[in-house]
Amino acid sequence: MVDRQGRQHHQRGECVITEQGIEGSAIYAISALARELINRDQRARLILDLLPDLNIHKIIQLLQKPRGKDSQSNFLRKQLKLPPVKLQLLRELTSADIWHDPAQLAHAIKSLPLELVATRPLAEAISSAGGIAFTELDHNMMLDKIPGVFCAGEMLDWEAPTGGYLLTACFATGRAAGQGVVNWLTESADSPNRLPLRSIHPITPEGSV
Ligand SMILES: Cc1cc2nc3c(=O)[nH]c(=O)nc-3n(C[C@H](O)[C@H](O)[C@H](O)COP(=O)(O)OP(=O)(O)OC[C@H]3O[C@@H](n4cnc5c(N)ncnc54)[C@H](O)[C@@H]3O)c2cc1C
Repeated sequence: MVDRQGRQHHQRGECVITEQGIEGSAIYAISALARELINRDQRARLILDLLPDLNIHKIIQLLQKPRGKDSQSNFLRKQLKLPPVKLQLLRELTSADIWHDPAQLAHAIKSLPLELVATRPLAEAISSAGGIAFTELDHNMMLDKIPGVFCAGEMLDWEAPTGGYLLTACFATGRAAGQGVVNWLTESADSPNRLPLRSIHPITPEGSV
């Protein structure tokens, strides 16, 4: 994937083709960039390498072998060990006329363009972008503008690749905010400006009251 500055981003990993699109660890790693490009251009172009362990010359060589009585799909499956999902994706994203040209087909296998046109809705998101800026917090993770309200986890404006890091950061910021509560109560215990506890806004399931 190519970013706004023209830099190429490479990511090796696995992904899953679903009814709605594509997801998985390889996609999560580039999802922030994909989202930015979709917001700017209404699309983001991924270039997929379906056989990262074979170079293009080796693929051409294998595709030039005699096909015998095999169907095109069987031949590709046997020669290249391409699983059905990759074969289907290749078929979906290429025109039929390149399938009999080993060089063009090998090129498509090594750099298959896939257009991403939208992200999934927030309700389905594993992690959300945006949130409360760190500049709004004091050293106790407390909102400068609403004393007594502490922030942690996904409500903060940070992004991390998924795969354990989100939960780790949520736990870490939760711990920091918990310690912040204790610090704040201790620090303000002797302060003449201490807020009365009733001025701290409780949170109810309907929202803040
Ligand atoms: C399907 C899925 C898979 C994931 N897999 C991973 C993974 O493998 N590794 C990883 O690191 N992360 C993973 N995540 C992300 C991780 O779960 C979240 O980043 C993390 O749980 C966020 O923690 P949080 O405490 O900020 O928010 P949440 O876990 O969303 O907690 C917020 C809590 O606040 C409650 N609440 C909301 N509004 C109010 C209100 N007004 N009053 C009182 N309570 C309220 C909610 O009911 C909820 O219990 C996954 C997420 C999803 C959805």
